[in-house]
Amino acid sequence: MLYRSWAEINLKNLGDNIKNIYSYVKKDILAVVKADAYGHGAVNVGKFLEKFKQVKYLCVATAVEGKELKDADIKKPVLVLGGILEDEIDIFNQYGLIPVISDFNQLELIKYLKKKKIHLKFDTGMHRLGFYKEDIPEILKRLKDIEIEGLMSHFPSADIDEEFTKRQIKDFYEIVKTFKKHGITPEYIHLQNSAGITYECPYCNSIRVGLAIYGSKPVKDFPVPLKQVMEVKAKVISIKSIKRGSPVSYTGSFVANKDMKIGVVSFGYADGLPRSLSNRGYFLINGKKAAIIGNVTMDMTVVDISDISNINIGDEVVIVGKSANSSITFEEVAELTGTIPYEIMCGISKRVYRKFLEREENEAVINTGSR
Ligand SMILES: *Cc1c(COP(=O)(O)O)cnc(C)c1O
Repeated sequence: MLYRSWAEINLKNLGDNIKNIYSYVKKDILAVVKADAYGHGAVNVGKFLEKFKQVKYLCVATAVEGKELKDADIKKPVLVLGGILEDEIDIFNQYGLIPVISDFNQLELIKYLKKKKIHLKFDTGMHRLGFYKEDIPEILKRLKDIEIEGLMSHFPSADIDEEFTKRQIKDFYEIVKTFKKHGITPEYIHLQNSAGITYECPYCNSIRVGLAIYGSKPVKDFPVPLKQVMEVKAKVISIKSIKRGSPVSYTGSFVANKDMKIGVVSFGYADGLPRSLSNRGYFLINGKKAAIIGNVTMDMTVVDISDISNINIGDEVVIVGKSANSSITFEEVAELTGTIPYEIMCGISKRVYRKFLEREENEAVINTGSR
């Protein structure tokens, strides 16, 4: 392995997550692959998802992200959640992307689209993107020769506020019914995200899931069994002893309180390790915890390996994932750094080589190649 840091993307686990989510929700899946598939590699993930009948759409945030999928010859329809801006009209037309239309500015741009098919987004409490229910008469007046293929809304707090979320489910139903009254019954009605899967939404026939397909739980007691898709690893590049009293790394924020053995790991904040893990987090080596000591630096992080035997230069260090009988999840790293697993995943940088595995564990490498 030429690379000093890499991420193993277990596509079989991704497939298992899709199947498990589908058998729990029994609704069509609009798989969210924005932000390079949450750091997993959108092209490889998108290609892998092509063969899943449960997956009806791939969702991205921007037109350029959609272009990347289509340039890779991915056939599934692509929904652009962030809608359309004037500069993007050509890309939409050239690649046949479908926009989510969230305001009247975007609605005006539809007239330039060759494919007259959209999803409409309503704001039921997030106050980011989306029309209000009161806009419906004006929308209907302006939409001529346009197929409303989807109606959607979004949950801001499905993981923390049940009452708020249930109110959104009710309010969105009123919107769906209003369209029905006007003879419009879209093919896709979608409201639930990963955390929203646990709610009943009988009138919804599809879901937009991101986090859960990658194997992270949006809430602690998530009812669907999930397998982590990405494992992040790096090499030990130096091993040495330091004397009691030695300061370690920039600013000397750690001072050895005994003679120690330390390992230098080729993974720093430029690889996506939050610098706030300085003196807090840990990696796994041979199944044992190696505490991070001193400040995380751009390319390297120092760990305490005083109690780990049998360790050599070039050995594998697990940043996120399994090592013997131990493991570190994205959820754990997120909790240690006061953020959410999404941010850690998306933050795994370009320098970290993506190695795509199709089968369980490391049996078969089907396709290597960075993103
Ligand atoms: C990112 C996104 C999702 C996916 O959310 P997860 O919590 O990752 O499942 C769904 N809908 C919209 C509009 C999004 O922007």
